[in-house]
Amino acid sequence: MAPEAGRKRRISILGSTGSIGTSTLDVIRQLGGRERFEVLSLTGNGNIDLLAAQARECGAALAVTADEKRYAELKQALSGSGIEAAAGRQALLDAASAEVDWAMAAIVGTAGLAPTLAAARRGADIALANKECLVSAGELFVKAVATGGGRLIPVDSEHSAIFQALEEDQRHAVERIVLTASGGPLRTWTREAMADVTVEVARAHPNWSMGLKISIGSASMFNKALEMIEAKHLFDVRPEQIEVVVHPQSIVHSMVGYVDGSVLAQLGAPDMRTAIGYALTYPDRAPLDVERLDFARLSRLDFEAPDEERFPALRLARVALQRGGLQGAVMNAAEETAFHAFVEGRIRFLAMADVVEAAMDRLSHLPPATSMEDVFAADEEARRVAAGLIG
Ligand code: NAD
Ligand code: MG
Repeated sequence: MAPEAGRKRRISILGSTGSIGTSTLDVIRQLGGRERFEVLSLTGNGNIDLLAAQARECGAALAVTADEKRYAELKQALSGSGIEAAAGRQALLDAASAEVDWAMAAIVGTAGLAPTLAAARRGADIALANKECLVSAGELFVKAVATGGGRLIPVDSEHSAIFQALEEDQRHAVERIVLTASGGPLRTWTREAMADVTVEVARAHPNWSMGLKISIGSASMFNKALEMIEAKHLFDVRPEQIEVVVHPQSIVHSMVGYVDGSVLAQLGAPDMRTAIGYALTYPDRAPLDVERLDFARLSRLDFEAPDEERFPALRLARVALQRGGLQGAVMNAAEETAFHAFVEGRIRFLAMADVVEAAMDRLSHLPPATSMEDVFAADEEARRVAAGLIG
């Protein structure tokens, strides 16, 4: 949604206290802060001090914590600021439904689906970091954004790269899209070594600094698996048009191959602020203080085929794409459940893929979703099945 001439752009940041959220606030600061943007709402969960500090700095009208029990703490932290405080699930949905021009969807996991949908239905342009929305709700989510009248602008670095390399009037000439994957911290590990990897080692990404879930997802390559499904829905390509290549330097963020053999890529330093800035200023580009690539110093860019034996998540994404229907929702929910079990020490690293595969097989009979209720029901059912498998 474009603001009328002269009016500041009204925005909200769902998940402002996370890795993407804080980078989004930095981009907003760099692009003029309060001079250019009116922040209607910021939302967070457990990090009340940060949420309150952010709201004060950007002059937000409202700050919401999803955690109902933290209301008094948030109210106290905002006292004297004139910023409204609210807490709980309904408050989060109300904040997401505010009339804004642009909403950053940066809540992690399925918790982000309902608030992002609320923002989409209200007609905001959706800057989508929360890939889980598209993986679970697929076309229904894309339709909700279109019906609301806003634009869906990817923030995930790979999808931002593809979005930038896609020639709008040449979509029919796209042959393939190539998602790059860093391979994560376990890229060169044997399967035997992966079996014993700890959370501390698995979360230490070599190139990107990110939230815990996506960091573990990079180590297992479940993040790339979710991104394959995200790409299918964002770019309306067939599963066989989606390729993954491992590129350890994370400089080429992804590529689009055309029918004439040309491949267009987007490159940059591994810094999410470039993709966030593009989502905020699209179709324009604005100057950002991020690292510039020095090609002489880079000297080489490596590419290698992914290993689906060590990283079965990639194979499971193909299965989900082939089966279609609610398999994305099942895969996403089972993966989130398995991720929590791994970080809590209840299952080992490699068991995450086993749980997801078993849950997908167990729920492969679900008919395609006809409404968001079907998506939420499949999500719940998959969590129940995955929890049962974990024991
Ligand atoms: P994070 O864990 O750093 O932050 C998550 C945010 O969600 C926080 O603001 C947190 O308060 C909020 N949150 C957590 N649980 C919540 C709940 N139950 N209800 C409401 N809010 C809740 O995560 P992140 O790394 O910033 O990732 C956010 C999203 O962006 C994810 O979907 C991730 O896959 C995607 N993404 C992240 C990166 C990255 O570089 N971090 C890159 C691409 C895509
Ligand atoms: Mg990504």
